[in-house]
Amino acid sequence: MAQDRTCDVLIVGAGPTGSALALFLAQQGVRVLIADKAADIYPLPRAAHIDHETVRIFQALGLAAPIMASCRQAPRYDFVNARGDVLLRFDGADRIGAGGWPAANMIHQPSIERALRDALHANPAITLRTGWTLQALAMDDDGATARFADGADETTVRARFVVGADGTRSATRALAGIALDDLCFDEPWLVIDAIVHDAARLPTINLQICDPARPTTCVLMGSGRHRWEFMLRPGETPEQATDPAFVAALLAPWNVEGAVEVERLAVYRFNARVAHRWRAGPVLLAGDAAHQMPPFAGQGMCSGLRDAANLGWKLAAVVAGDAPATLLDTYQAEREPHVRQIIALAMMMGRTVCELDPEIAAARDVQMIAARAQAGEMRPPAAALANGHLLAGSAAAGDYFPQFLGAAGERLDDVLGAGAWLLADAPIPTGEGGVRAADLSHPALAPFAAAIAEWLRTRDVPAVLVRPDRYVFGTGTPSDLQAAYRFATAAQSPVPDGAFIRESEMSIDGTYDVVVKSPMGERKSVLTVQSAGDRFTGTNAGDAGSFDVSGAVSGNTLTWQQKITTPMPMTLDMTATIEGDTITGSAKAGAFGSFPLSGQRTG
Ligand SMILES: Cc1cc2nc3c(=O)[nH]c(=O)nc-3n(C[C@H](O)[C@H](O)[C@H](O)COP(=O)(O)OP(=O)(O)OC[C@H]3O[C@@H](n4cnc5c(N)ncnc54)[C@H](O)[C@@H]3O)c2cc1C
Repeated sequence: MAQDRTCDVLIVGAGPTGSALALFLAQQGVRVLIADKAADIYPLPRAAHIDHETVRIFQALGLAAPIMASCRQAPRYDFVNARGDVLLRFDGADRIGAGGWPAANMIHQPSIERALRDALHANPAITLRTGWTLQALAMDDDGATARFADGADETTVRARFVVGADGTRSATRALAGIALDDLCFDEPWLVIDAIVHDAARLPTINLQICDPARPTTCVLMGSGRHRWEFMLRPGETPEQATDPAFVAALLAPWNVEGAVEVERLAVYRFNARVAHRWRAGPVLLAGDAAHQMPPFAGQGMCSGLRDAANLGWKLAAVVAGDAPATLLDTYQAEREPHVRQIIALAMMMGRTVCELDPEIAAARDVQMIAARAQAGEMRPPAAALANGHLLAGSAAAGDYFPQFLGAAGERLDDVLGAGAWLLADAPIPTGEGGVRAADLSHPALAPFAAAIAEWLRTRDVPAVLVRPDRYVFGTGTPSDLQAAYRFATAAQSPVPDGAFIRESEMSIDGTYDVVVKSPMGERKSVLTVQSAGDRFTGTNAGDAGSFDVSGAVSGNTLTWQQKITTPMPMTLDMTATIEGDTITGSAKAGAFGSFPLSGQRTG
């Protein structure tokens, strides 16, 4: 028999994304119902890695301690060829990242999901229903009505907003009529998860072995676990690949018999897809429902957690009546570009690893070894927001605000707590509209005051307003920042470019020495910029010749397209932000990913 229930936000899917979102919403007083078709968490390992920013998100939910308890660190992630030559290296994975936690953490996903599930159960503001499968969804101007199959029964839930966090095959996405953009990556891999009995016999770094005879991944997992992944060759079937003799032959070169015990075998097809729309009226998508990526960059779950952190405070503000529903449109605008960057990186890594042609692989090795010698070490692209709920044009708007650590291990977020922060180098009035205001003389900020002061000084600004998801809303004077934040949150649209920004902060015209660091080596050029309103013209002159450039200006950010002919003909999507005399940004080379751009004004 159908029962009617109501809630502010209905979340379909209690995987990591949906669970984290439910906890963020409940923290802010939103009535949440979260429903999952499974009886309990997914018990087998999936994600191997989470980054420092993801741990900081768990910290905001009070879960950093249980999650870090089952993590361990691997200092390096190497892509090597069949001979063991290093093609690509991500170093310093065990150093503290900007999020205030180790840059890379090897995990056991079920342990994380268990911590999240326990927190859902313990939270009285959250109603969790398991064994509920979404069957139908009707949307109207005031919300949505979802029908679930609940064993032999059916239940109807009426909600102002519905978030589909129901994974790759999202029923919410299908019922909302949202299509996927397929980025054309589809490779079958056998995943072997193992329980470790003798860690001394296993590698201590993460490896991608780019051997065309058998592309292979070997990574640490959470404490006491290890994983191998082997790409299936054309003609090999999942049934063959999971045969014990086949598995034993694959593991034989690793000489780990007796050192590990296989926990599970699974064949996955690694795909890359992005939903066209992440919002359709009252329905939003998050996590794997909105985007899927091959696991080579270890970012699928991390991306879902970033979605939850971004969407949580916005949905809460809309439900509370503090912001119009159009604030939710900034969610996709902010998150999708970073997700696409990460997918491009994961696909570039995947194409590097998955090459099966020995001649092409040999040419790749020569090129990558030479490029590595020039470009130095690689870093994953930092998550920075270009458009959305930002004070566009102010220094550092959209940047990730670091979690500074005190000498005794104190963490900034633990001291300042949830919500937005206004931090200033001189005394300021009390924060308004839920913004926590503090100047650097505040005793609680003593352990971090020097680091925050340095952050403000290098950007030449008196104050910063940090959003609840720890991205910089903007910088400027405290009163301008408060006014702009109020305007951006309550208004129908983001702050108009240039509003609340001092004229002197906005000069972008000039000449810049620019370097793009790509896996093919450093590309140096001289960029001239002459702006006129929201457009600019200029030249970009480097080794490959001098090109006229023209593009758009948004605040102090330039975007333009540039055609190149070497190493192959393609069009680069260029983005560059000018702060004072410094220019930083990226050159996006289609599916090959984005490469950092940096430089200095010379005239
Ligand atoms: C081999 C492998 C390696 C990976 N490595 C990494 C890594 O190193 N780092 C990383 O960050 N990520 C990694 N990932 C990706 C990561 O596992 C996923 O991105 C993450 O689980 C997505 O979380 P989610 O909550 O969005 O979706 P899911 O975890 O898929 O959760 C979706 C939930 O929705 C429920 N559901 C589905 N349909 C319905 C319905 N109709 N009604 C009700 N409920 C429904 C499901 O039961 C499930 O609980 C890896 C994945 C794989 C497979």
